[in-house]
Amino acid sequence: MPPPPPPSPSSLPRHSTLSWSRWTWTPPPIASTSTPLSPAAAAPAPARCSTKCPTENVFSLNRILSGYSKSGDLSAAHDLFLASPHRNAVTWTIMMSAHAAAGRGSDAFSFFRGMLRDGVTPDRVTVSTVLNLPGCSVPCLHPFAIKFGFDTNVFVCNTLLDAYCKHGLLAAGRRVFLEMPNKDSVTYNAMMTGCSKEGLQTEALELFAAMRRAGLPASHFTFSSILSVAAAMAHLHIGCQVHALVVRSTSESNVFVNNSLLDFYSKCDRLGDMRRLFDEMPERDNVSYNVVIASYAWNQCAGTVLRLFREMQKLGFVRQALPYASTLSLAGSLPHVQIGKQIHAQLILLGLASDEDPLGNALIDMYSKCGMLDHAKSSFFNKSGKSAISWTAMITGYVQNGQHEKALRLFCDMRRAGLSPDRVTFSSVIKASSSLAMIGLGRQLHSYLIRSGHRSSVFSGSALVDMYAKCGCLDESLQTFDEMPERNSISWNAVISAYAHYGQAKNAIKMFEGMLYCGFNPDSVTFLSVLAACSRNGLADECRKYFDLMKHHYNICPWKEHYSCVIDTFGRAGCFSDVQKMLVEMPFKSDPIIWTSILHSCRIHGNQDLARVAADKLFSMEPTDATPYVILSNIYAKAGLWEDAAHVKKIMRDKGVRKESGYSWVEIKQKIYSFSSNDQTNPMIDEIKDELERLYKEMDKQGYKPNTSCALHLVDDELKLESLKYHSEKLAIAFALINTQPGTPIRIMKNLTTCLDCHAVIKMISKIVNRDIVVRDSRRFHHFKDGVCSCGDYW
Ligand SMILES: [Zn+2]
Ligand SMILES: [Zn+2]
Repeated sequence: MPPPPPPSPSSLPRHSTLSWSRWTWTPPPIASTSTPLSPAAAAPAPARCSTKCPTENVFSLNRILSGYSKSGDLSAAHDLFLASPHRNAVTWTIMMSAHAAAGRGSDAFSFFRGMLRDGVTPDRVTVSTVLNLPGCSVPCLHPFAIKFGFDTNVFVCNTLLDAYCKHGLLAAGRRVFLEMPNKDSVTYNAMMTGCSKEGLQTEALELFAAMRRAGLPASHFTFSSILSVAAAMAHLHIGCQVHALVVRSTSESNVFVNNSLLDFYSKCDRLGDMRRLFDEMPERDNVSYNVVIASYAWNQCAGTVLRLFREMQKLGFVRQALPYASTLSLAGSLPHVQIGKQIHAQLILLGLASDEDPLGNALIDMYSKCGMLDHAKSSFFNKSGKSAISWTAMITGYVQNGQHEKALRLFCDMRRAGLSPDRVTFSSVIKASSSLAMIGLGRQLHSYLIRSGHRSSVFSGSALVDMYAKCGCLDESLQTFDEMPERNSISWNAVISAYAHYGQAKNAIKMFEGMLYCGFNPDSVTFLSVLAACSRNGLADECRKYFDLMKHHYNICPWKEHYSCVIDTFGRAGCFSDVQKMLVEMPFKSDPIIWTSILHSCRIHGNQDLARVAADKLFSMEPTDATPYVILSNIYAKAGLWEDAAHVKKIMRDKGVRKESGYSWVEIKQKIYSFSSNDQTNPMIDEIKDELERLYKEMDKQGYKPNTSCALHLVDDELKLESLKYHSEKLAIAFALINTQPGTPIRIMKNLTTCLDCHAVIKMISKIVNRDIVVRDSRRFHHFKDGVCSCGDYW
């Protein structure tokens, strides 16, 4: 139990005229200032003797007071303070420090004011104590320091300089630094740290050089701050030089400096050097372990992290100091839910506040990334005091797990709870709206972003570029990219992927070159977009070129998705021998996505042999998926092999495989309307059918022939035609035509790939009604305009 708060000193009479015989006091058991008292030893003695203060000697008083304050017994200190007739600057300063240490900064200030009122002149320790109080206004106290003649005192000036820098007032700090007649190592350390914190790494380096020229010895703090400069600049050479200097100038190794070295090597990605130093360190503390574990966690070395984590537990470090958050984030990024759960169980066993920041947020994040949304939800909803970061973690979790509507609902709840979204929140919510292709919502978020001052954030800007592209608004996407005041590699990736989605491979490649020109390094995601763009345009040579560039120049290990793109490109270009070669070369097991793309290529080029192989693979991998049956029977039908086609359909029927029902949706005036194939439920269905009828008449005049191979199940030809007429995207387009102004672009989303017939029909409709029609199907974007599609009939 903490002691009851003593009366604020400002309520004390100016000169204590109370008879101190009224006050009781307990002599502390050990009246030494050098030995801290344990709280138990300093607990109020059972019998408090009601005698006068035994000493009028200020020196003794201060020693006793200091003993109380070190043992944390503020109440006893306060009683004694009030009872003592004589107080000097040291007495007041002890009381100030005691209150500051107990986290009672405003009481500490009151003591300072009381001291000035009492006419006691502060000493240099007093001034530096006040300057270090939290919430202290350094510019207000600076004149006091001058008034009491401390403006040339190195100790006080160092504190002033340090306080200015800590409060972010670097210019004022620099002025103090320049005006100081005498400087020591501490002065330089404070200035270097201040500059480094403000990102002025070069100035910090110059100060270090000046300090060496002045012949001042470098302390542990000097080494530590110059190493953090080297780490911030990722300047390996400087850091290594400092390391050599450390070895030369200190005979004994110091754990504080070594930790800074560990941190430097870690930030410069020199895991080997970091490990060597760590192994050689004669003494390690929890910081050493935390730095090394965080670094291994970042590099996803799960085994090493766990080994070090267990070693730390065995060595008996304080439990609170264990790097739970790093380890949780490792578990999330692997993802490895078993590790995550073990850590969670430990947190519960140890009674550590797993529902508080930052551990609670790390748990939500870990469970979301491991796909265990229920666990993430219970961590979130049971969390006391949810911060904006917790909300964001949960919203992001929903988005990562494809639950976009829930993410948006939670975002609304967050706003209602009065919490301000940050850039990460925004980029997650924008991602959700782009996945739902809710352009109306996306635009609202864009304007909200502008209002709340997050517009210039490179993260939300990149998310917007991506959102507009995915909602079928390439122009707005490009415009957003152009207007971004600052771009990073994510922004470039977004714009390259936008072009790739629209099948504009040449532009995607141009943007890729632009990215390199601006000095950004492409990553796996960049190359995935470039390769996807090549595949959508059948650019086999370019695809080969960029795949090699990625592997050999940038040393990026291709993912399965990269191989998938390359195989798709070669297949679409008809280079089936290259496809076979890639399948052998690929260090992954082939999956349904790869075989489906091969099957699509076989359809384009009429390669029946490979098609049969691919279809067989797919039948065994995904026996309930109708796609391979449909494609294979189409290939046979196209070649006039009607019996084979019928045979495939029969197998499909016998196995009870049904085609996934297709549906399309369209957003009009911020409302989503969805249509299934042959849907009769829309109240405007008659008008929709009339509109389609009108269009079909126009198309007939232009020589339209329905492609009945797209209607699989129905035997009766007339029924076949009827079903083909009312595929979901056709209904959605007719509905949009009726309900929007002439000339307005139409954007349709579809869950499956668009069939050959719909593709042909939409091309013609775009010309007849003179509108831009964008269809986002499960594979890509089709931008129909003037009777042609951006995909070049290649999908
Ligand atoms: Zn269709
Ligand atoms: Zn198309």
